[in-house]
This record gives sequence, C-alpha cells and structure tokens, in this order.
Amino acid sequence: MSTREQMLFLKSLKEDGIEEIYGFQKSAADSKTIETILKAAEPAADDLREQMIALREETRLCQKCDQLCTSRQNVVFGSGSLNADLVFVGEAPGREEDEQGLPFVGPAGQLLTKIIEAIGYNRQQVFICNVLKCRPPQNRSPRPEEIINCRPYLKQQLALIKPKMICALGNFAAQTLLNTQEPMARLRQSLHEYDGIKVTCTYHPAYLLRNPGDKRKVWEDMKKMKREIDSMHS
Ligand code: URA
Repeated sequence: MSTREQMLFLKSLKEDGIEEIYGFQKSAADSKTIETILKAAEPAADDLREQMIALREETRLCQKCDQLCTSRQNVVFGSGSLNADLVFVGEAPGREEDEQGLPFVGPAGQLLTKIIEAIGYNRQQVFICNVLKCRPPQNRSPRPEEIINCRPYLKQQLALIKPKMICALGNFAAQTLLNTQEPMARLRQSLHEYDGIKVTCTYHPAYLLRNPGDKRKVWEDMKKMKREIDSMHS
C-alpha cells in the first residue's frame, strides 16, 4: 500500500470514528505468485516447507468435487508465512482469486490487506486461506459435500502452521470451523477453539464493503484479537 493509500485508509477509519492504529508496514505485492510468496515469507523449517508443498500439490491435483475440479482455473491453496501466529480463513475463492491462484486479491482482499496492516502485520507475516480451495461457479454457496471434501486440507494446513490464532472471516468460515449455526452477531462475542487453536470470528470484508457502518465492530474485534495474540507472547 502506498503512503497515499495508507493516509486515505487512516482517513476513512477516522471518518468511521476509529482513532487507534497499530504501526503500518509495507504490504506484500499481491501479484506475486504463490511460489514467490512462500519463498518471501519468513524461512520455515525445511520439513515444514516440504510438507506444506506436498499438501499444496495434493490440493492442486484434487478431483474430489466433480463440478469444481472442472470449472476452476486454479486451486487457491493459500499464501503467507508458514510460521504465522495468525491465520485468516475465508469462504472460497472468487473470480480474481481463481484467475490468479491467490486468496483475497479482489476488492474484499484489498480491504483485508488494510485490516491486516492496521493491526501491525503485513500479508507475508500472516497466512490467508479459505475453507474451499476452488471457486464455486458464479460464486454460488459452497455445497455440503464440497465442504466435507475440502475440510481435511484446511485442517492439515492449520496443523502444520500451528498458529496462535485463527480469524474466521464471515458466517460461512466461522460456522464451518466451529461446527455451529450460531449467527456472527453472537459468535464474535467470545473466543472459540478449533483443534486447540483459539478462534476469533468477525464479519467478512465483502460484507463490510456492503455495510461500511460495521467497520467499527470489525476494528474492535481486531484490537481484541491482537491483544490476545500479544498476551500469548509474554
Ligand atoms: N472471499 C473469500 O471468502 N475468499 C477469497 O479468497 C476471496 C473472497
């Protein structure tokens, strides 16, 4: 994000009544390939990197969903640091993500990048992925059998990274990870757990683009989440 973009984002947060900002850092180049991003991220132990590359290859060749494996252009495995303290989990790739093979690179992704930077990280320091690794055609909702097929990949990604915190973006990711039907308004009120990892739930950036009045709630969730992560370091 350029300095001018950072200033504009700060201004937009101020307009929403948000004053407190963690340090900004230069953002990752969104156009880098997954390969370059994996290399650019903090060095991970060789065996961890190898296991993650093997898992990525398994997802790249996945044929479990008849429709998605023929309609997709790319499998969107995820990107970022394999040593990340924080993993963001969204719903499924959209058009731009399917084209580029990278998660959250469309308009919702640009807002997610700003949210990540507002809490003092950049995209290379966290890991970003989705519940579904393939784009549902016309962005239709993921089907139950697709979730069942794809869930093991997310589970293995999280088991390899072992983050301190998962941030579930939106109802779909939160309800799938936590195996619940509770609405976001309730889920965001407390910390949850997935396979021994803490989980924060907040609104999806695409929802925020349609409902900018709820940015403040996400900002409150992000501040609380960052404090929780920081407390795990001390
Ligand atoms: N929305 C998501 O849930 N994931 C993406 O990668 C992009 C948009």
